[in-house]
Order: sequence, then structure tokens, then C-alpha cells
Amino acid sequence: MSSDTADSRLSAIHDRIARAARIAARAPGDVTLIAISKTHEADAIRPLIAAGQRVFGENRVQEAAAKWPMLRDETPGIALHLVGQLQSNKAEDAVALFDAIHAVDRSSLIAALARAMDKAYRRPPCFVQVNIGDEPQKGGCAVVDLPALLAEARAAELPLAGLMAVPPFGVEAAPYFALLAKLARDNGVVGLSMGMSDDFETAVTLGATHVRVGTALFGARA
Ligand SMILES: *Cc1c(COP(=O)(O)O)cnc(C)c1O
Repeated sequence: MSSDTADSRLSAIHDRIARAARIAARAPGDVTLIAISKTHEADAIRPLIAAGQRVFGENRVQEAAAKWPMLRDETPGIALHLVGQLQSNKAEDAVALFDAIHAVDRSSLIAALARAMDKAYRRPPCFVQVNIGDEPQKGGCAVVDLPALLAEARAAELPLAGLMAVPPFGVEAAPYFALLAKLARDNGVVGLSMGMSDDFETAVTLGATHVRVGTALFGARA
């Protein structure tokens, strides 16, 4: 990706976020754009950093550990979010590497993260992932289990940033975003990590505080 391309893609996404925010009478600055750089090499990421983007997301601990220490050395102030499934045995690596963790979805992981945070003296904010479409193959806790899981996260003193979801593929996402927003309200959490390349504007109108955009910034993944 050339730096011109990175500049124009980034400003186009910011414009679209701002327009969606205005429709919902929200401040565009209340929405954090997470650039999802999974599968892309450092050379593809640098132009976006040069264009001013500072918040990035990866879905694999190992891939992030291979790419990001170098990129962070080059440019201070980068925040890295983990948006993919996390195995409990990688909790320590994740706590060391990431500034936010978006896929907390079960008791065993809450316990592993709490231990890792105590050990590292580092407490990255966590989003609890909800399986909002009740899909068997998807990560996230069942909607009915959310209150109990949030209680466990609070008891373990995980810093709770909010809820995260990936709605079912190929159907209108708005009802699922609206449901996630209601669940957040009902359960007293603030952040809403929802919306990807195809639906982030809808997510912003329905309250997203964090949108996770990959393809619309980097182009299609191989
Ligand atoms: C890959 C990924 C994204 C980005 O998807 P795009 O459609 O490329 O914008 C967002 N969230 C999660 C959890 C992902 O795994």
C-alpha cells in the first residue's frame, strides 16, 4: 500500500465514522478506530502508521508478537488490541503484549487473565465477547450466561471495558448491534466493540465505541 493510498483510505474511514456519529448525535471522537492488521506484513502496516493511525488489532498472539515489537520501537504511542480467540495458556503473553483484550468469553480465561495481570502488574482493559447470534461455531459467551460471566470478571478485578460481538455473516447486522448495546446498558458496562469493514457505520449509529476495520483500510487479505 502506498502512503497516498493509506492517507486516503484512513481519511475516508474517519469521514464515514464522523458522518455516522452525527446521524446518531454522537461525537466522532467517542469512536476508536482499530485498524485490524492481521495477516499483513510490517511493510503493509507502516504506511498506515505514517498516515497517523495509532490503534491496531491482531487476532493471534504469536503473529502479533512477531510483528509488533519492531513496529512499536519505530513509532512510540501505538496501542495494540487483541480481537481474536485467546487460549488460557497464552494469557501471560497476551497481557504482556496487548493494551486491550476483546475476546474474554469464559470462566477459565477470566481466571487465567486475572493471574497473568497480577503477575505482570499490568491490567489491559477487557471486553467480554458475546455470541450475539447464538451460532455454535462462534466464540463468545451465550447471551443468557453474560450476567454471570460479568460478575466473575468483576470479582476477579478484570478491568471491564465493555462488550464485543461479531454478528452472523451475511444478514443485516443492525438488530445484533442493538441487542449488544442493550446488553451493555442492562449490565452496566460502557464500551461496545462492534462493526467491521462492511457494517461499521451501522455500528456507530447504534453506539459502537470501538470499530474493528481491516479490509477497508488494508485491502483484501490473501
Ligand atoms: C478480521 C477481523 C475484523 C476485521 O474484519 P474486516 O471485515 O476485514 O474489516 C474485525 N474483527 C475481528 C474479530 C476480526 O477477526
